[in-house]
Amino acid sequence: MIIARAVGPLRAQITHSTRRSYATSSPGRSNTPLYAALAVGLGLAGWYITSNGDVEKVEEKVKSLVAEKKASDEGLGALGVLIKDAWTPFTLEKVEPYNHNSKIYTFSFGEEGKQKISGGQVASALLVKTPEGDEEVKDDKGKPVIRPYTPISPPDLKGSLTLLVKEYKDGKLTPYISSMVPGKDKLLFKGPIPKYKYEPNTFDQGLCIAGGSGITPMWQLISHAMEIPGDRTKFTLIFSNVTPKDILLKEKWDQLAKDHPDRLQVKYVVDKSEKGWSGETGFVTAPLISKLFKRQDGEKVMAFVCGPPPQVNSLAGPKDGPRQGELKGALKELGYNSDEVYKF
Ligand SMILES: Cc1cc2nc3c(=O)[nH]c(=O)nc-3n(C[C@H](O)[C@H](O)[C@H](O)COP(=O)(O)OP(=O)(O)OC[C@H]3O[C@@H](n4cnc5c(N)ncnc54)[C@H](O)[C@@H]3O)c2cc1C
Repeated sequence: MIIARAVGPLRAQITHSTRRSYATSSPGRSNTPLYAALAVGLGLAGWYITSNGDVEKVEEKVKSLVAEKKASDEGLGALGVLIKDAWTPFTLEKVEPYNHNSKIYTFSFGEEGKQKISGGQVASALLVKTPEGDEEVKDDKGKPVIRPYTPISPPDLKGSLTLLVKEYKDGKLTPYISSMVPGKDKLLFKGPIPKYKYEPNTFDQGLCIAGGSGITPMWQLISHAMEIPGDRTKFTLIFSNVTPKDILLKEKWDQLAKDHPDRLQVKYVVDKSEKGWSGETGFVTAPLISKLFKRQDGEKVMAFVCGPPPQVNSLAGPKDGPRQGELKGALKELGYNSDEVYKF
């Protein structure tokens, strides 16, 4: 109670100093109010130490508020549960079947992580592996299998994160994930791995081209952009899948496009169409991109690509490990330069 009273004004002051609109304003430029607040906090802490002797609790609270401010400034979630250089276990809480080969998995941060966020930012990825022991998934050389995933839950969600995972029956990790038991089994997580850092109104149009489960960073990016007050950036998503029943998050995309008709257009493409299919059919090529996405003269456009490596190669050239790699393929053919293309 006394601690709450001691840190209350400090929290209010810090919150005030970190509040920012999402538009073009930068995070609180002056830290003066923060330092004043810290001084008050430390003074109160000193008083509390002498009168109650419970120094650790006050110190902990002050530290956590400072970390919260830092996290907000850096946008990296210093208060997040994810650790860049160490594996953290999260328990599988819930599994929701999505379609014939994909499921949505919710992982809980546990009791002590209930009020914490993951620590990722839009649209960062994280790494996943299985716990050590008899069932640990290893590759042919006996090394643990590690795979990247992009959560579909918003980065500011507290207490849990959600992955949409497509299962490959002959894959290494996904058959294990698919067999996990909610409430019992855990996966180990590490990260975040920063990717493109989105700032509103820095380009006029975003062209997002995704294939299959490569849709997850696009969901992070576009759903986030649509929520930012004052963001006028328009997006076109060209989303390719094998058949109509493979289209991931279709109901969410359709709803988002309906809610933001002036800012978002979604174009579906399938390799194999079915009766009644009204979208495009075939691979995504330069002529198809030109047909689906109109670039006006003088407009600043940023293209994003995420999908199976052969698709990324044909659209924008291969990635060079974690680096972007040379721009080639359809987007180069269409006149894009390397500053205008981001490969997730
Ligand atoms: C940044 C990033 C974010 C991602 N986010 C997601 C996400 O949110 N959701 C998601 O579902 N996936 C995501 N992925 C893909 C994910 O990391 C895994 O690659 C995927 O889940 C497959 O893992 P796996 O171990 O089960 O299969 P793998 O063992 O990697 O195999 C996958 C497929 O490739 C084939 N294959 C494997 N090795 C070879 C080979 N040598 N030659 C030919 N074919 C081969 C397999 O037969 C199988 O069909 C992401 C990838 C990246 C890079």
